[in-house]
Amino acid sequence: FILISGIQASIYLWQVFLKSQLLLEGMLNGKVALITGGASGIGESTARLFSRHGAKVVIADIQDNLGLSVCKDLSPTSASFVHCDVTNEKEVENAVNLAVATHGKLDIMFNNAGIAGEAKPHILDNDKTEFERVLNVNVVGAFLGTKHAARVMIPAGNGSIITTASVCSTVGGGASHAYTSSKHAVVGLARNAAVELGKYGIRVNCVSPYLVATPLAKDLFKLDDDGVSGVYSNLKGKVLNAEDVAEAALYLAGDESKYVSGHNLLVDGGFTVVNPSFG
Ligand code: NAD
Repeated sequence: FILISGIQASIYLWQVFLKSQLLLEGMLNGKVALITGGASGIGESTARLFSRHGAKVVIADIQDNLGLSVCKDLSPTSASFVHCDVTNEKEVENAVNLAVATHGKLDIMFNNAGIAGEAKPHILDNDKTEFERVLNVNVVGAFLGTKHAARVMIPAGNGSIITTASVCSTVGGGASHAYTSSKHAVVGLARNAAVELGKYGIRVNCVSPYLVATPLAKDLFKLDDDGVSGVYSNLKGKVLNAEDVAEAALYLAGDESKYVSGHNLLVDGGFTVVNPSFG
């Protein structure tokens, strides 16, 4: 009798565990997501998290080998790669069309690709070519992603568009003039698009991380290999990881945020409320 009760209890606990895993990890079941810059850093973490939550993920990036290896790691039925330079409208159009052709629709567009550009603090040292290069990837890329996602989301009457901005969308002094300008600009773009696209059931938001130790940030801030030494944190003992940003994007992507639009979600441990600028 004791043996049978023990087995029954184990089966019951196993069922409870499986159910909780399904509930916890099924936030994007049946959804299709296109992630630009999904081959590395925040985009890669987001691709992995979205996939764990049941989404079909299409990674769009210029780093083909890295992107393909992320997809290989995920199930071939749940992740695919497309070469896409976000500054090239034909390639963005093609990436969106490919997501729809492969999976029948596009529910989530994550405009995440971005570059830091050369960090030259003194404005007189900055040249127009470099300024335009950063704005082209960060702003024009987000514009093209938003435009082509809207093209297929409008007839569907549903969708969530998310752009990775930065704390540099809110405070000055943390990066190059071009980078800070670009991140302020994408929040403006998201707000404008949120106003226009709301009537089609499409939500448009930004996620704004503080420092994450990705190749981009290591390059920009000359971080140590662990990426955390010397990085200020407003939350004692806590350091921001790419996965934390992915969790915020997951919230904005899923139906849990169905009434959130035109919002810039800061994932900064309170940095921007403490600091009016990087100073
Ligand atoms: P990352 O360098 O790890 O990833 C950026 C990805 O974008 C790379 O895979 C790269 O190949 C891709 N990419 C660059 N140019 C592209 C283009 N023209 N077309 C398509 N893909 C392109 O850096 P990350 O830190 O993960 O950056 C992701 C986003 O997060 C960026 O928009 C960045 O500005 C933003 N961000 C990063 C931090 C940070 O501290 N790492 C903080 C705030 C915001």
